[in-house]
Amino acid sequence: MAYEVVALGGGNACGYLAKELVALGLQPGKLAIVTDEAVVAYERPALSKAYLFPEGAARLPGFHTCVGGGGERQTPEWYKEKGIAYLTNSRVTAADVAAKTLTLASGEVLSYQQLVIATGADPVRLADFKAPGAELGGIHYLRNVADADALLAAVAAAKAAGNKAVVVGGGYIGLEVAAGLSLLSVNAAAAAAAAAAAAAVVQAVVVGGGYIGLEAVVVGGGYIGLEVAAGLSLQGLDVTMVFPEQHLMARILTPELAAFYMAYYEAKGIKLLKGQLAKEFKGDGKVSSVVLSDGSTLPADLVLVGAGARPASGLFAGQLTLDKAGGIVVDGSFKTSAEGVYAIGDVASFPLLVAGGALVRQEHVTHARSSAAQAAKALMGANPAPYDYQPYFYSREFNLSWQFFGQMEGAEQVVSWGVLDAAAAAASAAPGGPSPKFGAYWIKGGKVIGAFIEGAAAEESAALKAVTAAAAAAPADVAELKAQGAAWALSKL
Ligand code: NAD
Repeated sequence: MAYEVVALGGGNACGYLAKELVALGLQPGKLAIVTDEAVVAYERPALSKAYLFPEGAARLPGFHTCVGGGGERQTPEWYKEKGIAYLTNSRVTAADVAAKTLTLASGEVLSYQQLVIATGADPVRLADFKAPGAELGGIHYLRNVADADALLAAVAAAKAAGNKAVVVGGGYIGLEVAAGLSLLSVNAAAAAAAAAAAAAVVQAVVVGGGYIGLEAVVVGGGYIGLEVAAGLSLQGLDVTMVFPEQHLMARILTPELAAFYMAYYEAKGIKLLKGQLAKEFKGDGKVSSVVLSDGSTLPADLVLVGAGARPASGLFAGQLTLDKAGGIVVDGSFKTSAEGVYAIGDVASFPLLVAGGALVRQEHVTHARSSAAQAAKALMGANPAPYDYQPYFYSREFNLSWQFFGQMEGAEQVVSWGVLDAAAAAASAAPGGPSPKFGAYWIKGGKVIGAFIEGAAAEESAALKAVTAAAAAAPADVAELKAQGAAWALSKL
């Protein structure tokens, strides 16, 4: 088949690209989106958050793109109505940039006049570290909805198995009785071991606040580690996080900010093993333990790995200019080194104007959305002003919700504000505990270039975004930032 525009990847960025192209007047029959996933684009951030909730979980079609960005929910019918061909379950095995073609695993060849590469990033795998046992079952990654379903199925299966074991041991019955559940329903669920029945038991256990005795090991202390550890803990599993750094979320949090999150996680019963690598995975076909760099061993019913991601640019190696990490180098309109070929989202290495045009990749949904919008304008011949992105990151876990605006590179000073001690963390982590509020400002050359906030009100987020975008002058006495917190940014509006 031949199309005017082919968008490759099918992730969130492709969904937003379609939205923008339609808004700019794209005619039916001009666009095809190709993905190896089984479903049309969805808001990927849900997978490591609400998708893992034991109750009221997010499920498709509820979170198809563009609901996260305040847009229409683009179901398969939406694409059909707009005359957009959405080729799901279609893996591209070869790309020929010179010939302007993509070859699918089926052998079918798609040709295009313009290509938008939105292949995203692939998880770093344990096999990349040559970790013995990396191939065992029960080791999970989380990138797409199929991965999330596999993780939840493993949780359900482990619980079904664990349920039987604990019933034999007797401890579970007491728990169930305490939770006001009938022994009959527990036994029925244990016998059935079906996912649906297991899920019913799971919810009961979580309602009862019970201990299941199933061990989940989360490898990595970044976004996936933090969010999925919270999800698995809500599912009632005993969670241990293993990460090489000295504190969680080392790429954003200062040691002081991280201390709050670590105390909070520990108060939630999550064990944190810092400065440790998961070296080896043992088990008979399926993982049952993890050997750490200090030689100790952790039991594991399942393992979740969040050890970072790499740009998925392999199809284009040798055909397009790539940066050292494999990101596809683009200009301020997301044009690559080849005529008519664009790259957007996680895979694109673009000039960050606020950093003097340094090439960066941003693995975050806000950039996926806005890079799609920028490329759509360029594709439709609008010749937009160069992309002027302000870095932004957010994450949510339990009753926590944090955001980071701006930059931190080169900052000479970080001033934190609010109550960050372990007692405050434990109070917030207690059932029904207060949502915390605190933050930090990054200062470079007397200017506020970055800001972090936990528990922001909408107007505080807007104020922090504005002061960091403007690189507002920091007060002469930075103690004022400490004393005023977010109120300082609000006073600058
Ligand atoms: P990450 O970069 O946030 O964290 C990687 C973590 O891997 C590090 O913090 C470190 O603890 C760990 N690590 C590094 N080397 C290791 C090793 N040898 N052994 C064990 N651990 C090691 O990446 P991630 O958490 O895997 O997330 C993957 C992608 O998904 C990223 O692109 C991320 O931005 C994205 N994501 C973003 C969000 C969000 O923005 N809220 C949420 C989920 C995922």
